[in-house]
Amino acid sequence: MKNLPALKTLLDSPKKVAIVTHFKPDADALGSSLGLAGFLKKKGHSVSVVSPSDFPDFLSWMSGSESVIALSKKSKELLAKATVEFNQADIIFCLDFSSLSRINDLTDIVKNASAKKVMIDHHLEPENFAEFQKWNVSSASTAQLVFELIDELGEKKKIDSSIANCLYAGLMTDTGSFRHNNTTAREFEVANELVSAGANPSEVARLIYDVNSLSRLKLIGFALNQKLTVLTEYRTAYITLSQDELKKLDAQTGDTEGLVNYGLSVKDVQLAVLMYDRGEEIKISFRSLGDFSVNDFARKHFEGGGHKNAAGGSSKQTLEQTLKKFLDLLPEYKESLNP
Ligand code: 5GP
Ligand code: MN
Repeated sequence: MKNLPALKTLLDSPKKVAIVTHFKPDADALGSSLGLAGFLKKKGHSVSVVSPSDFPDFLSWMSGSESVIALSKKSKELLAKATVEFNQADIIFCLDFSSLSRINDLTDIVKNASAKKVMIDHHLEPENFAEFQKWNVSSASTAQLVFELIDELGEKKKIDSSIANCLYAGLMTDTGSFRHNNTTAREFEVANELVSAGANPSEVARLIYDVNSLSRLKLIGFALNQKLTVLTEYRTAYITLSQDELKKLDAQTGDTEGLVNYGLSVKDVQLAVLMYDRGEEIKISFRSLGDFSVNDFARKHFEGGGHKNAAGGSSKQTLEQTLKKFLDLLPEYKESLNP
């Protein structure tokens, strides 16, 4: 981080800090936020963590998750409470996102707050809204950037097992359990540091991957059995899930997490897509292998972005129209999908 000394000075006396992460936070978003919150609290700051939406149940073991202000469309009070936190904050940390639209209803509130902003993120093509930036696209996770910040501040000793578990969870999931091509020696070094500081890899893996609701398993079964479609010509696999299907299977927030990876695991598939109807919009997940940039694809066609091989987007059209739009685009990409 370039202007670390200035941030260090800022953090040397007790401050009012608000941490915000992206809509529908995953383990990296929530884990990096709660890990940072745990650290800043230990340093004597007053800290609140705000999520623009609810978060998956399988992350509720994270220390501090019980006091997250998680917004919901139904509650104006929570939005008012979050607004107060941002307006009173001296510092706002923005974690695991770098385009303000990813915090949905909080975009303008955070943008207009007078607090100093610190963006910590690893997504491509960041917006320039923060005075302080710890941004590294080569980092597999935001959690490891939080670890590095704590290290750069010379305060590694403050990382206890609760903080380490939150950060480890982000590192583990954003590397696909150290399997994706963003896994380098550095990710293992940080994993080593976190485990040495008290993270429990088998317990974190169990809590995240091996505590399923029956309805989630049935959703995966249904999606694979009835909805997975492979287009050999385009080396593409896709799954769509309508609101009706999600309702029938009693799907909860987070239940679709990881589903897109099954499509990518089909032999010879280069591009996998999951589209599902969230009610207010269609959410799309993209995954690719090799040179096909789903960041570019999602940015260009579906108001999204992310990383080269893992990105997301959305659409305000119906599920059928969104699928048609996607399918109509494929011929244009046929060659890049068949390198
Ligand atoms: P997922 O498909 O798991 O939701 O997201 C894959 C990656 O793309 C994650 O790094 C996520 O943060 C990012 N991402 C997901 N949705 C969006 C989006 O709508 N816009 C942008 N810029 N990034 C997204
Ligand atoms: Mn991340």
